[in-house]
Amino acid sequence: MPARVGAAARWSEEAGVPTLAVFKLASCDGCQLTLLDCEDELLSLAGKVKIAHFLEATSAVLPGPYDLTLVEGSVTTPADTEHIRAIRAASRRLVTIGACATAGGIQALRNFADVEEFARTVYARPDYIDTLATSTPVSAHVAVDFELRGCPVDRRQLLEVITAHLAGRKPDIPDHSVCFECKRRGNVCVTVAHGTPCLGPVTHAGCGAICPTYGRGCYGCFGPAGRPGPTGGSLSVNLPALIPVLKSDGMDDRDVERFLHTFNSADFHEELMAARQEEQS
Ligand code: SF4
Ligand code: SF4
Repeated sequence: MPARVGAAARWSEEAGVPTLAVFKLASCDGCQLTLLDCEDELLSLAGKVKIAHFLEATSAVLPGPYDLTLVEGSVTTPADTEHIRAIRAASRRLVTIGACATAGGIQALRNFADVEEFARTVYARPDYIDTLATSTPVSAHVAVDFELRGCPVDRRQLLEVITAHLAGRKPDIPDHSVCFECKRRGNVCVTVAHGTPCLGPVTHAGCGAICPTYGRGCYGCFGPAGRPGPTGGSLSVNLPALIPVLKSDGMDDRDVERFLHTFNSADFHEELMAARQEEQS
């Protein structure tokens, strides 16, 4: 349902508390559940903001404009393209949360395939399916004030982004790689010690290096580290240096491609194409 814009506008100003809205496009709801999972902090937050639109939590809906809007999910249908424009128009600040909203999500695998063939294979009546050929991030359609990465997002980072935007300051979200967090925790590197393939060197920090802490390689669910964009990344993703390491750990070209084509497939695909071009030049 499109966001209701303007009707009883200025609600938040009259009430004297900022309004928070949460919307969903194509996604699994995991990032919204992360917000609900904040529990104690959510109660404190609820005392500071008016939750004006959050269908995962309440059916009560207030019209915009909203002071802070969080959007989960990617744009995959013609209706989504209209919906996200209405959401943008109703939002003073718009923050996208999670791999779907910031990179197109796992559903962006369709970007490298024939979506009509998928529809014919999966659905008994593909003529009922009204979908776009691509799954794209929200920033490909409207201006975004901040992108928070992760699949799902990390609850501490989510609270930092919300409180920072409500306080009118820049969120303190580092754009370095998972390796930094891994070293801070004092982990033994699974690649160096055990030859386990790990995407930590090229993946955005935020999870606290969960997978290497439990002895497995990172599979990149926070997406490439430090890419330029609304998050303000400034580092380069050194995939050309990592690919030979992955191959020395037993992967071939196909394995590398599959390793990169998961939750953030569109973003990692761009990096992979750039790495292959560099290899050939
Ligand atoms: S285990 Fe992975 S994330 Fe940790 S230091 Fe090694 S390569 Fe980096
Ligand atoms: S896959 Fe990588 S980024 Fe995702 S939780 Fe595991 S270590 Fe963190």
